[in-house]
Amino acid sequence: MKIETMAVHAGEAVDPTTRASSPNLVMSATFLPRELTGFSALDEDESAGYIYARSGNPTVRQLEEKLAALEGAEDARCFASGIAATHAVIMGRLSAGDHAIFPENAYSGTAEFIRNSLPRFGINTSFVDTTDADAVAAAITPATRMLWLETPCNPTLQLADIALLADLAHARGLRDVVVDGTFASPIGTRPLALGADFVVHSLTKYISGHGDAMGGAVLGRKADLDALNLEAAVHFGGVLSPFNAWLIMRGAETLPIRMRAHQYNAMVVAKWLELHPAVSRVFYPGLPSHPQHDLARRQMANFSGMIAFQTHQDGSEIARRMVSDLQHVHFAVSLGHLRSLIYWIGTDDILQSTYQHPPEAEARFRALTGRGIFRLSVGLEHPDDICADLARCL
Ligand SMILES: *Cc1c(COP(=O)(O)O)cnc(C)c1O
Repeated sequence: MKIETMAVHAGEAVDPTTRASSPNLVMSATFLPRELTGFSALDEDESAGYIYARSGNPTVRQLEEKLAALEGAEDARCFASGIAATHAVIMGRLSAGDHAIFPENAYSGTAEFIRNSLPRFGINTSFVDTTDADAVAAAITPATRMLWLETPCNPTLQLADIALLADLAHARGLRDVVVDGTFASPIGTRPLALGADFVVHSLTKYISGHGDAMGGAVLGRKADLDALNLEAAVHFGGVLSPFNAWLIMRGAETLPIRMRAHQYNAMVVAKWLELHPAVSRVFYPGLPSHPQHDLARRQMANFSGMIAFQTHQDGSEIARRMVSDLQHVHFAVSLGHLRSLIYWIGTDDILQSTYQHPPEAEARFRALTGRGIFRLSVGLEHPDDICADLARCL
């Protein structure tokens, strides 16, 4: 099956009773056992069928099967949000005394969780420039259990070379290479095929694509996910609502076609921004001006719809105009929705709230972002209308 066909059909089956063509929404928290079973989740096995929705629900399971097919993964587990999926894999795989390596530039929600919560659990962390393989190699210690990558990363659109870094890490005995693939979606990058052990997605973004449901997923080997399911789903409890799974499944059916349109629109808008006199710098992996464009061409089958750009004038002034004057593009956080979304991310704000970099890392970050960057998630409107709307404010 080609990916467009898998997106439509994988995980879905015609209901044997009603012969319904579209997937069922099963809003049931509990299920009647066929025969007497034990009460503990530890007693459950797959042959028992569904018992209680915290350990499994048929609508959520359909989405998991669709996601696994799209990602080329053995299996998938869904969670209530992208951060719940991140939490599941980090707390499900790491123990006190372990060391883990995280990117110095990553989604702020991930960075805040790692920096603020992990030290309390005795998990040691290093933050490294994951665009630099030597820096990653130098950070690995005998206690290192996890290498976390995010590519392209939020919001600077830097890439990590998954194949190179996964090889390097595994050769040094490191167990878990995890890739947050939210910005690329499985249409852009397939980290497992490049050697990663786990992929994490915020389903809230491209995979749902409609800006209505929150969700997250972890994908990887079946044995790893079975072990994770007991702890992260059953015991931590951050499971996905079947209703959200149903909405996200509906979004995922059109993912390949939407990603093609997101990429097309983003390329038009990125090229237009590069020529705009108010704009000083554009970061888009699909442009030859992106510092890692060669890696993008090797690693990304679709450059996605995320652009970052800087302006000559103080961006916070322009952002203020955007809040009041934009007509189609929404000035709002989040990304990957069919509506274009833009947000101003001031460098001082981000350094203060999340990063607390050592001086040389702060200097690297400032060299990249200046006073700040606009993060633009190019939606599915006509690109001419998106450009005209931005022009009003630039
Ligand atoms: C949004 C986002 C997340 C978190 O996902 P939620 O669904 O908001 O919890 C994680 N990683 C990246 C790269 C994101 O953009």
